[in-house]
Amino acid sequence: MILITGAAGYIGSHTALKFLENGHEIIIFDNLETGHIETIKTLQKEGSVHFIKGDLRNQEEINNIFAQYKIDTVLHFAAYAIVEESVKEPEKYYTNNVIGTLNLLKAMLKYNVKNIIFSSTCATYGEPKYLPIDETHPQNPVNPYGQTKLTIEKILKDYDRAYNLKSIILRYFNVAGCDDKIRIGEWHIKETHLIPNILKSAVNNTSKFKIYGNDYKTQDGTCIRDYVNVNDLANAHFLAFEYLKKENKSDIFNLGTEKGQSVKEIFDTCQKVLNKSLNVEIAKKREGDPARLYADSKKAKLTLKWNPSHTIEDSIKTAYEWEKKLK
Ligand code: UDP
Repeated sequence: MILITGAAGYIGSHTALKFLENGHEIIIFDNLETGHIETIKTLQKEGSVHFIKGDLRNQEEINNIFAQYKIDTVLHFAAYAIVEESVKEPEKYYTNNVIGTLNLLKAMLKYNVKNIIFSSTCATYGEPKYLPIDETHPQNPVNPYGQTKLTIEKILKDYDRAYNLKSIILRYFNVAGCDDKIRIGEWHIKETHLIPNILKSAVNNTSKFKIYGNDYKTQDGTCIRDYVNVNDLANAHFLAFEYLKKENKSDIFNLGTEKGQSVKEIFDTCQKVLNKSLNVEIAKKREGDPARLYADSKKAKLTLKWNPSHTIEDSIKTAYEWEKKLK
């Protein structure tokens, strides 16, 4: 069976859905601190889901799952993931993300489970030295969130060498959109991300969308990012799972569309897709935002045969339907 940590959250739940749609029985471990029980209930309607509420900081809770179920692969999403918060509260991030993962790996080794797919991030690269960013780009994270993910990547490398524990590390760029049938979606109590913030301003007339800085050295002065659709991302996890089973070797893949789009371009596309004029104001830059980030994802396309098929318009359309449903 497959254990998915953090599947009550955004990317974890979409990946869980993908596995359910492919007939897998899954176990979800989540503390529901940032994820939602409603998401779990929706997933339970789609297939066989065993849900255990628990926390990775508690070794016994994790061990119990491995004792109870015959697990062969772990997909590990559970983590804190807000950059700004990580700068203010690094202890919270190191404890949950790094120690939590060490506890998970300890249980895996104890129960001889040797396959893991790990959610990493382009934030491990830091300020880009060249573009597009490929997997061999130097890793110098500029915030504690990125540091925690890089630390885990290093731990996984050492655990492969020492204990033969195989990992696929997936480094996500910016993730967008939701399930095409709008069953689940991006649902953060503290929303910090670009597309949901634009769409919230469209759905709630009270919230105003702010562009964080318009004097970056880019063509229109706003930051450039690579927005990959969450269903395409979920699919990459499924392909990574099959690859890991077949090849039994560790590997690392960037997941992005290889196309950079500016904040202004995304805002304009939202207006076009919604056929609505939205309010916007220019606010001060957010600390630690690099001007440009976009992926070289050829390795995932070639090796995993990953074929991302959703457009940014698809992502905005589904995310908008989801925002209306959330409201
Ligand atoms: N951004 C913005 N207004 C918002 C949220 C984000 O201008 O309300 C900008 C942010 O500065 C960055 C880009 O949009 O340049 C993407 O930010 P997001 O938080 O979605 O993802 P990140 O790239 O930080 O992981």
